[in-house]
Amino acid sequence: MREGRSAVVIFLGPPGAGKGTQAERLAREHDLVKISTGDILRDHVARGTELGERVRPILDAGQLVPDDILIALIRDRLSSMERVRVIFDGFPRTVAQARALDVLLEELAAPIVGVPLLEVPDEELIRRIVERGQASGRSDDNEHVARERQRVYREQTQPLIDYYGGRVRRVDGIGVLDDVYGRIVASVQ
Ligand code: AMP
Repeated sequence: MREGRSAVVIFLGPPGAGKGTQAERLAREHDLVKISTGDILRDHVARGTELGERVRPILDAGQLVPDDILIALIRDRLSSMERVRVIFDGFPRTVAQARALDVLLEELAAPIVGVPLLEVPDEELIRRIVERGQASGRSDDNEHVARERQRVYREQTQPLIDYYGGRVRRVDGIGVLDDVYGRIVASVQ
C-alpha cells in the first residue's frame, strides 16, 4: 500500500474471526482509517440516538440492519474525508451494500487494494465470541445470538466472496495474533 494515496481494504470474514483487532493494527501501521460499522451502530445504541433506538433490537437479535441505513452511513463518512484511505471492518455485508460501495468508490476515485478473508472454523468462532462477551458484556456476544450471526453471515455475506472473486485472499485466522497479522499484511500488498 503506497503511502498517501487513496486505498480501500475490505476485510471479510465471519463474526468472531478477529477482524476488529487486526483491522485496528493494519489501520495504525498503514495510515488507514478503520471504519467498523458494528462500532458505529453500537455507539448510536449507547447514546440512545433515534438510529440507535431503531437498530438496537436488530443488533440484539443478530440480524442485519437494512442496507439503506448502512449505505447512507458509509456515504456520509466517506464524503467527509479529504482522502479515502480506509479499512472496512464489517462492511459490506450484503451484495447490495457491495454494489453501492463500488459506485461510491468510483465517484471518489478510490481503488480497492485488497480483500483479505479471515478464515476460522465455526466452533472456534462461537468459543471466541462467548469469551469476548464475558469480557465486554456485549449483548449480542452469547452463544444463541452468535449462532444466528453465523447463519446470517453464511446466507447474506458469504456471497461477497464470489462478488469480489479473484481479488479475495484467504488468510488462515488460527494462530498467534502476530502471525495472523503478518499473513494479512502480505495479502494486501
Ligand atoms: P459487528 O460488530 O461487525 O459484528 O456488527 C454487530 C452488528 O451490527 C451485526 O450483527 C449487525 O446487526 C450490525 N451490522 C454491522 N455492520 C453491518 C452491516 N454492514 N450491515 C448490516 N448490519 C450491520
